[in-house]
Amino acid sequence: MFADITLPIPFDSFTYLVPPDLEARVMRGCRVVVPLGKNKIYTGVVLSTHNNAPQGVEIKAIMEVLDERPVVNEQQFTFWQWIANYYLCPLGDVMKAGLPGAMKPTDEKALKASSRKRKAIKSDLSPSAWAGQLSPLSPAQQKAFDEIEVSFLDKNVTLLHGVTSSGKTEIYIHLIDKCLQQGKQVLYLLPEIALTTQITERLRCIFGDKMGVYHSKFTDGQRLEVYQRQASDQPYQLILGVRSSIFLPFQSLGLVIVDEEHEQSYKQQEPAPRYHARNAAIMLAQMFKAKTLLGTATPSFEVYHWARKKLYGYVQLTQRYRNMQLPTIEVVDTKEAKRKRLMKGAFSPRLIEVMKNALERKEQIILFQNRRGFSSFIECKTCGWVPRCPHCDVTLTLHKKTSTMTCHYCGYTTRIPERCPACEESKFVDIGTGTEKVEEQIAQLFEGATTLRMDLDTATTRAQFERIISDFSTHKADILVGTQMVTKGLDFDRVSVVGILDADTMLNLPDFRSYERTFQTLSQVAGRAGRNNTAGHVILQTRSADSDIIRQITQNDYWQMFCTQMEERQMFKYPPFVRLIYVYLRHKDNELLEHLADDMGTRLRAVFGDRVLGPDSPPVGRIHSLYIRKIMLKIERRASIEKVRQHLLAIQQQMQTMPIAKNLNIYYDVDPL
Ligand code: ADP
Ligand code: ZN
Ligand code: ZN
Repeated sequence: MFADITLPIPFDSFTYLVPPDLEARVMRGCRVVVPLGKNKIYTGVVLSTHNNAPQGVEIKAIMEVLDERPVVNEQQFTFWQWIANYYLCPLGDVMKAGLPGAMKPTDEKALKASSRKRKAIKSDLSPSAWAGQLSPLSPAQQKAFDEIEVSFLDKNVTLLHGVTSSGKTEIYIHLIDKCLQQGKQVLYLLPEIALTTQITERLRCIFGDKMGVYHSKFTDGQRLEVYQRQASDQPYQLILGVRSSIFLPFQSLGLVIVDEEHEQSYKQQEPAPRYHARNAAIMLAQMFKAKTLLGTATPSFEVYHWARKKLYGYVQLTQRYRNMQLPTIEVVDTKEAKRKRLMKGAFSPRLIEVMKNALERKEQIILFQNRRGFSSFIECKTCGWVPRCPHCDVTLTLHKKTSTMTCHYCGYTTRIPERCPACEESKFVDIGTGTEKVEEQIAQLFEGATTLRMDLDTATTRAQFERIISDFSTHKADILVGTQMVTKGLDFDRVSVVGILDADTMLNLPDFRSYERTFQTLSQVAGRAGRNNTAGHVILQTRSADSDIIRQITQNDYWQMFCTQMEERQMFKYPPFVRLIYVYLRHKDNELLEHLADDMGTRLRAVFGDRVLGPDSPPVGRIHSLYIRKIMLKIERRASIEKVRQHLLAIQQQMQTMPIAKNLNIYYDVDPL
C-alpha cells in the first residue's frame, strides 16, 4: 500500500510506502511522520492511500502514525485545495499555514513533546461562566439587525456599513447569540491588532466558555489546544480569532463575521499562501451554507462595489450610538505654516494651541504619525551621502534612542557612523519625522505632559501592546503617539483631540489604492476622538489642504471619494474592475534575473497578450540580497480562474526546466494589496 502525503514544504504531495503493520492506521486526514532527503523528518497529512507504485523513484516508508482518527476533516481538505488553486501555491504551503506549529514537529524532540501535549484538552472554565446577559439594542441598531436578517434571506454576504462608534459590535453580539441558539457555530474575525483584551472581555462576559480565542501571539500549546478542541466532539461554539483562524476545523458553521473588513492585514503577504482572510472566509462560509457579515465604517472598494451591484446585501448605520456627534475635522495647511516658518518640528501653531487647551482641561490626545523610528534616514551635511542597507534597496531608518540605524525590510542594524565614509566629515542631518522624533518634540513643546508611544518598536509583544492601551485608558499618560496601531478599534473615554501630523506621505505613496487607504486610515483615526462623553476635535495637517481627497476626508464623504476613484480605476483597468495577479521572480544574480524575467514576460504575452505588464523592478528592488522582478497580469473578472492557473503553471514549468533557471524563485500574489 502507498500513501500520498502533503508536507509543510512548497510541494503538493509525496508518495510513501505504508509498512504492513501501519496499514490499518494510515487514513486520510491523519498525521504521519516521514523521512525526506538524507536525514530530515517531517510531519505530514495523509491525502489518500492507493496501490499505484510510483515508477523510477526510490520510495521511502512512513515511520510513524500520530493520530488515531483524522485531525483534518473533509471540509478542511476542500478549503485547503481552494486556497492552493486560487492563490496559486502548492498544497504543502497551505497545510503549513493550516495546522498550528505544534502539530507539525520536524525533529525527534518536538515529536515527543507533541505526543505529551496531545492528551491535554483541558477546560479550565467552569460551565457557569456562561453569563448570557445581552445589553439591549438601540432603535437604530435594532433596525440594522432586522435588515441584516432580511438580507440574509437571499444574500450569502452582507455589508454592514456603520460609522465609527455606531455600535456594530453590539449588533454582532445579537447575531452571534441567535446563531448559537440555533446550535450553529460562529467565526468572528478581527484584524490582529484589534483583537485586544477590551473586546475579548466584552464577549467573554456574554458567551463565557462557549467562546475560544485564537491569536497568532498565543503559544504553540494554546493554539494546539484550540485546534484540538475544535476537532473534538465538544468544540467551542464561537471562535474569536485573527486571520489564521479560518483554518480551524468547523463542524456546523452558521455565521462568519469579518469586522473591519477593509483592513489590509487580512491579507497574508509573506510567506505563501498569500490569502485574503475576508475572501477566504466568504468561501469557507459558502462551503457550510453559512452567512457572512462584513462590518466596517469605510468599506474596501471591492466589497462596496459588490454591494452596489447587489451581489452582497447592504445595511447602513449612519448615527453613532447615543447620537454622539462625529468629530469635526479641521484642516491645517502646513505648506503655508512652513513658508512663514511657523512650524515647530512636526507641529503647527494651531495644533499646539488645541493640544494645550485639551491638556489644561485634563483631556487626552492621540497623535498619528505613520512612520516609526526617529527619522526616515540621515544624510551627510557636506556631501549628501545616505546610509543604505547592504542587503536591500532601501535607506536605513534612524533610531535615536538606541543610536542605531535599521533596515525595516530585513532587520539589518548598524551603529550611526561617527564620520561620513564618503567625505570623512562628521555632520549629519536627519530627514523625515518618525514617532520617536515626535515624542522628543512633545517633550520640548508641552512641558509636564506625559507621553506613551505605540509602534512596532515599543509594542513588539502582545503584552507590551496591551500594556500601553491599559496605561493610556487609565490616564497614566496625556498623549499617545503612534503609527497605524493607534487607529485600531481602541475605545478611550477621555480622548478629545486627535492630531494627524502629516497626511501627505500616505497620499503620495505610488499605489493605486493610496487615496482609498488614506481615507480609511484617517477616518479610523479620527473616529478615536470624542467617543463616549467628550466631543471630538481632529486636526489634520497637510500640504495639500485644498485637494479633493482632503475635502472628502474632512466631510466624511465616502461616496464622493468612491466615485472619483472608481472612475480612475475603470479608466486604467484596476480592481475591482479587473483581477490582478503579480508574478514575482527572485534571484541572487541581477543580470540573469533580468534575462529570465524578460523571457517569462514574453511567454506570458504569448498567452495573455496585453493583459501582461512588465517585468519591472518593484519600489524595493532587492530584499535579503535577492533581486526582484514583478510582472503584472490584469485579468477580466469573468475569465476562468482555473484556465488562468493552468496557463501560469505551465509557463512556470517551462521556465523551471531550463538549466540556467535552476535557482530562480517564482511565486504569485493573487489579488495583491
Ligand atoms: P463600532 O464597532 O461601531 O465602532 P462599538 O460597538 O465599539 O462601535 O460601540 C461604541 C460604544 O457604544 C461602545 O462603548 C459600546 O459599549 C457602546 N454601545 C453600543 N451599542 C450599545 C448598546 N446597545 N447598549 C449599550 N452600549 C452600547
Ligand atoms: Zn559626506
Ligand atoms: Zn535590509
